Amino acid sequence: MVDFCENTSHTHLNKALFLDRDGVIIEYVPYLSQPEQVKLPDGAGKALKSWQDAGYLLILITNQAGVGRGYYTLKDVEKVHTYIRQQYGRFEVYFHDIFVCPHHPDDHCLCRKPSPEMLIQAAKKHQIDVSQSFFVGDAPSDLQSAISANCQPVLLLTGRGQETIKNLAQYTTEIKVFTGLSETVQLID
Ligand SMILES: [Mg+2]
Ligand SMILES: [Zn+2]
Repeated sequence: MVDFCENTSHTHLNKALFLDRDGVIIEYVPYLSQPEQVKLPDGAGKALKSWQDAGYLLILITNQAGVGRGYYTLKDVEKVHTYIRQQYGRFEVYFHDIFVCPHHPDDHCLCRKPSPEMLIQAAKKHQIDVSQSFFVGDAPSDLQSAISANCQPVLLLTGRGQETIKNLAQYTTEIKVFTGLSETVQLID
C-alpha cells in the first residue's frame, strides 16, 4: 500500500464545528428513535446559522448504541436525521456530513466516542484542520474524543452536561463551557 501525502495538493484547510447530536443540537431523550421525539433547543437554529455563515462546516458526530443494543435500526436513525435536517433547514442550516457509530460498547469498535476516529475520518474526508475546529458536546466521551483528536473541546450544560461538568478537573486541556448552543457563537472570531 502506497501512502500518499494528501496535504500537498491542499494548501487550504477547512474549519469545522463538530457537534454531538443528543443533548446538543436536539434536546436529550435517552435512546431517541422517532422523529416525533425530536425537539430543537431554543436559539439553536440561529446559533448554527451564525457558525455556518462564519465559514465553519457543520458536522454531526454521534454514538447510537441503541442500534447495537437492538432498540432501533439504522433506518430509524436515518429517519430521525432526515427530520433533523428538515427542522434545521427552516433556519437555512445545513449539516455537511453526519458520522454515526451504531455499535454496542461491547463490540469494541474503533469508531465509538471517546475514540477520536469519527473526527479523524471527517477531517480526512473534508480536508479539515481539527486544531482550528471545535467539538461541542455534553458528555465526557465528547470531550475525550475532541482532546484525543487535538480538536478544541466545548462543553454545553444541556443534556448530560450538568453531570459532566462535575468531573471537569480530570482534564488537563482547557475546556470551554457554555450554558447552551446559543452562547457558543462567542467563540466565532
Ligand atoms: Mg450527547
Ligand atoms: Zn462504532
